[in-house]
Amino acid sequence: MNATKACPRVPLRRWWLRVLLALPLTASLTTTGCTNSNAGPTPSTAAAAAVAKSEAAADATAVPVASVPDNGPLPHIDAKRAFEYTRQVTAFGPRYMGNDAHKKLERYIVDHLKGDQVENDDFTADTVEGKFPVHNIIAKFPGKKDGIIAILGHYDTNYPLRNIGYVGANDGGSSTAILLEFANQLRGKIRDGYSVWLVWTDGEEAVKNWSDTDSLYGTRHLAEKWEKDGTLKKIKALMVMDMIAAQDVNILRDNNSTPWLLDLIRSAAERGGYQSHFYALETPMEDDHLPFVKRGVPSADVIDMPYGYNDVFHHTAQDTMDKLDPRSLEIVGNTILETVHLLDQR
Ligand SMILES: [Zn+2]
Repeated sequence: MNATKACPRVPLRRWWLRVLLALPLTASLTTTGCTNSNAGPTPSTAAAAAVAKSEAAADATAVPVASVPDNGPLPHIDAKRAFEYTRQVTAFGPRYMGNDAHKKLERYIVDHLKGDQVENDDFTADTVEGKFPVHNIIAKFPGKKDGIIAILGHYDTNYPLRNIGYVGANDGGSSTAILLEFANQLRGKIRDGYSVWLVWTDGEEAVKNWSDTDSLYGTRHLAEKWEKDGTLKKIKALMVMDMIAAQDVNILRDNNSTPWLLDLIRSAAERGGYQSHFYALETPMEDDHLPFVKRGVPSADVIDMPYGYNDVFHHTAQDTMDKLDPRSLEIVGNTILETVHLLDQR
């Protein structure tokens, strides 16, 4: 895909999207025509720093890809059920930190986790738009092996988009839903492998303009907490689900993620015959994995960008259910559960 891309027209985008459109890219996306004219503060320096940090982290944790083949049955999520969860989550409407719909969604998630081991990471975020309550929800599914595989997905939608009818079906909806379906798959048995922790993260989105201090509220807090209490050392791998339900899903290869973990995810995708949906594009991404990458945790951002031609559905009122496909949830869901199996064997 060497075609020239137009500049984004919507001002309220994550700056990493502007990076995607503005920086010269390696691999498949070789050129873009965007001059970053509406991008506001330039992210390139920060992007370079983030990449440098992640490369350092990646080097520190470099591990060869598992050579042991997985002879077990291929995992299969219930994609129709995951799609229905996405529909129900989206139906709550705008779900920014602290509003009524957000509270209802918190209850909806916790209600789905009855009988599971659930913990909360609650705090107040002091932002440029005032104080917001932030509630990360953690469900723990124990395993016999010593160590944790963490799977994260944000459930908040954007505060700045609260009055435009923005419902975040893909961005916020799909990540919430796939974690609910993962919980269904993990429930009711002690795993033979590592413990799996599912984390519905809050405050992923910026309240005004994406920056190091206005974004990732929930995960910045959680990473610090887990660093202090020793949890981070036990995490074997961390994977972030974000915007994974759009039709004909195309997961980016994120240059801020840990290379061996990305390779392992691709191995898992190949086992399901899904490899054509992975890594056609390559670029650095800023997402909920970054606070963990910066602390040396092997981490991967599993995200589909751009969302619609020229990313037209991203952070717009057009991020609605009709853009999504259960097949995409199936591809990503099965691949990530197979990745968990491959991690168990390491
Ligand atoms: Zn978003």
